[in-house]
Amino acid sequence: MTLTKEERRIFYNNKSWRNKRKEIKQRDNYECQRCKAQGKVNIDYYEKNKNDRKKIKLVVHHKKELEHYPKLALEDDNLETLCVECHNEIHGRNFKNWYQPKKKKWDDEFW
Ligand SMILES: [Zn+2]
Ligand SMILES: [Zn+2]
Repeated sequence: MTLTKEERRIFYNNKSWRNKRKEIKQRDNYECQRCKAQGKVNIDYYEKNKNDRKKIKLVVHHKKELEHYPKLALEDDNLETLCVECHNEIHGRNFKNWYQPKKKKWDDEFW
């Protein structure tokens, strides 16, 4: 079973995902788990302090992609907090694309 783009879009707009996303970021202490493993710390300042403009954007990543493992979509073990940079690397996409929302061709955990 795989999810269509539309099904995924619905999922990402779903309230249970929004709540879960918050929960996972809290669990991971607003740190990118990948950076942390490499001894770097990337904190989402935006979440911690809304007035800080130098924010690092964090995403909650599905280790097993939502598209192919919809049953694991809300499983804590399948979710981890990543910074946009690491998330990009994992998905093998060009960094710049993140900042061109109009040209964004896909809708992953970002929103
Ligand atoms: Zn990172
Ligand atoms: Zn991802």
